[in-house]
Amino acid sequence: MKYISTRGQAPELTFEEAMLTGLARDGGLYVPSDIPQMSSEEIAALSGLPYEEVAFRVMWPFVSDSFSETEFRGAIDRAYAGFGHIARAPLKQLAANHFLLELFHGPTLAFKDFAMQLIGQLFQVALERRGETVTIVGATSGDTGSAAIEAFQGLAAVNVFILYPHGRVSEVQRRQMTTPDAANVHALALDGDFDDCQARLKDMFNDFEFRDGVRLAGVNSINFARVLAQVVYYFSAAVSLGAPDRKVSFTVPTGNFGDIFAGFIAKQMGLPIEKLVVATNQNDILHRCLNGQGYHKGETIPSISPSMDIQVSSNFERALFYAYGQDGNAVGQLMDELKSGGFEVSQGAMQALHEVYESGRASEAETLATIKSTLLSSAELVCPHTAVGIKVADEVRSADTPMVTLSTAHPAKFPAAVEEASGMHPPLPQRMSDLYDRPERVTRIANDLSTLEDHIRKHIAN
Ligand SMILES: *Cc1c(COP(=O)(O)O)cnc(C)c1O
Repeated sequence: MKYISTRGQAPELTFEEAMLTGLARDGGLYVPSDIPQMSSEEIAALSGLPYEEVAFRVMWPFVSDSFSETEFRGAIDRAYAGFGHIARAPLKQLAANHFLLELFHGPTLAFKDFAMQLIGQLFQVALERRGETVTIVGATSGDTGSAAIEAFQGLAAVNVFILYPHGRVSEVQRRQMTTPDAANVHALALDGDFDDCQARLKDMFNDFEFRDGVRLAGVNSINFARVLAQVVYYFSAAVSLGAPDRKVSFTVPTGNFGDIFAGFIAKQMGLPIEKLVVATNQNDILHRCLNGQGYHKGETIPSISPSMDIQVSSNFERALFYAYGQDGNAVGQLMDELKSGGFEVSQGAMQALHEVYESGRASEAETLATIKSTLLSSAELVCPHTAVGIKVADEVRSADTPMVTLSTAHPAKFPAAVEEASGMHPPLPQRMSDLYDRPERVTRIANDLSTLEDHIRKHIAN
């Protein structure tokens, strides 16, 4: 299978090439040229299988020209072996026909581990075979960076540099980035916000001399391999709740649109998903856009669900690509308009988006209130991102279709907000209870492209 750019001007690549490249050279994002289909029989056959086997069957058609079956199965097994729950992504009932999909049992307690652990293993297999090394630079609002550092630490073929906004990540997130001591992973605290981190990362990718010189690779959610790994749990959850014979809906706390776009891929593959609901916090550009108000950048306002504090939602470009009938030129034009502030979505594309997505938002007060009410009604302590999802899900769900709200992080990753809302201090799981005692290692750095590039060139470990 070939991978094509959402802007239509970059070369077609294999899965392996698209994974190692990240951003396409025309500034677009890679998507598969065709989305593989799973029949009802194949979906039904997933019932009762271990997560790793579901993962293999769902992802194999996307990757089979890049890895052998043994390589791919080995990567999946190593990726999920360190998870703290044998089901990997267990479902928990919250109310009648409302379920939480717990995606926080990985090593850094957020759903990002599902994709990052796998992509770490796949990078290592591919690079070892090619006899190459790469430099991964990532921008994070907290959870991507910790997941990347955890996934790539000690892998010989990869150096990792993670940019996070100084002072704007939680202490647990920061410690998860600054305490791993492997020589190939580096945490950089940038003087700026998350959008600055993302912008500098894009600048590095657009500086072809730097990009080629350090063999730059990206693992942000623009990397299609990450989206693909997240498709799996839509299948495992839906099948547990009766798919393919029964439709299931999902509500997804959304920032960069990666997680929910994985749900779109699952739906296109044939999984009977009724609604895909975008849940945003007060940074609600996606909700406004889906409400027909255009896509216009504002200021990012820091919230208690910081992993969703963004204005430019990278993966939304992929959703637009499909809504515009896979017209790369149209998408390229919208992205040009975005540079000067924003764009309007055409009527036809809006209609296409509404066939797939609904949306809602939660204010800070509503998020806190939902943490408290969920604890009282269901004895579940949830993180603020998950609470945003629950609040929106309760607004849109119907009595007859099961709703699955993605529980994107463990409450202990955001203890301040959880404690403010509920009066309860969420403890870290046993296996990481010494996190606050480990020494930290971090470089504070200016929001300046050449300073960053110099630092990275100097600190590449080999
Ligand atoms: C990354 C993240 C999100 C947002 O996911 P996207 O794929 O960027 O939409 C939501 N919640 C948590 C806890 C996250 O880490």
